[in-house]
Amino acid sequence: MKHIYFDYAATSPTDPDVVKVMEPYFYEKYGNASSPHALGREAQNALEQAREVLAGFIGAKPEEIVFTSGATEANNQAIFGVARANANKGRHLVISAVEHHSVHEPADFLETQGFKVTYVPADENGVIHPQVVADAITNETILIAIMHASNEIGTIQPVVKIAEIAKGKNIPFLVDAVQTVGHIPVNVKELGADLLSLSAHKFYGPKGIGALYIRKGTKLGSYLLGGDQERGRRASTQNIPGAVGLAKAVALCQENMIEEMKTQQTYRDRLLAEIPQKISGVKINGHLHQRLPNNAHFSFQGVEGESLLMNLDMNGICASMGSACTSGAMEASRVLKAIGLEDDLAYGALRITLGRWSTEEHIERLLEVLPSAVEGLRL
Ligand code: PMP
Repeated sequence: MKHIYFDYAATSPTDPDVVKVMEPYFYEKYGNASSPHALGREAQNALEQAREVLAGFIGAKPEEIVFTSGATEANNQAIFGVARANANKGRHLVISAVEHHSVHEPADFLETQGFKVTYVPADENGVIHPQVVADAITNETILIAIMHASNEIGTIQPVVKIAEIAKGKNIPFLVDAVQTVGHIPVNVKELGADLLSLSAHKFYGPKGIGALYIRKGTKLGSYLLGGDQERGRRASTQNIPGAVGLAKAVALCQENMIEEMKTQQTYRDRLLAEIPQKISGVKINGHLHQRLPNNAHFSFQGVEGESLLMNLDMNGICASMGSACTSGAMEASRVLKAIGLEDDLAYGALRITLGRWSTEEHIERLLEVLPSAVEGLRL
């Protein structure tokens, strides 16, 4: 059975054009970018070209981009790097209550090492209000981390206003832009980010490569040790096929993003309008307007989300609850709790995320299957 894929926020298929440009870098142009011979120089050139493409896309300078294995590493590098470089200045971090685990857990770890962390609450739509961030800052604050958009409920944060506050206090500002790069315009200068993380597999590139943007002048201790690649900021042999693939994915987004945003937004709005018409006891989660064009997130009263996913899966539909349950034991999503959902609604979550290959037929099929799936589970 061919799958209908509604889980683009988890990962996207790699665009065939991306795979095509990567291929020669596995078996013809396989040099190590640090090698001084011809194959090495070829790899180095490809890497630097990819860096330029990515930098251009997000309004950065090439030397401000460090390629990483993904956004998890980029977020870890940013948080531990800032903590290490600034520990003598202060030991307080401000992060939002709706961050991804790859921001949350490094901050939690730092708490065990004598740092203090303030988790800024979200409102019922998942919005982090700039004033609440401002109120959380102390003389000891060395990092503010607020994501660009939620991977679960799709809410887009008022990052520009928060950046102004951070800048006014001279505090580095980390923006996790994993769900926005390639999906909506992202420009580090316009956003005011000092650090920004992204991951290629979320925008039709390959898995295993991402990047951290580090604004020139941002103090950051080195992360991986054992080599001076990436200007000494990230040791390890660079992933050339990955970087080439990431750059191609960027080029395709540059070409198609605005059109894709419009299409996906139309599908999203149809789901947001029609699902509550067809099914009773539904709540839409996340902000209705300040929201990713490809995200629709619902809670169904009296329905076990895991069972609903299994039911959809049996109908060939791949969706998500928005957050993974912990080692098989169901625990309600931290983000849904942060926006004040009662357990019943938090457990009955369904995240639908759209992408390049979503079609009208996919939407029709979901609208056909979902009502009886939900009602069947309520019996
Ligand atoms: N941040 C956000 C908001 C994410 O959605 C994800 C991936 N789910 C990550 C960070 C981590 O990205 P990766 O798994 O590519 O390292």
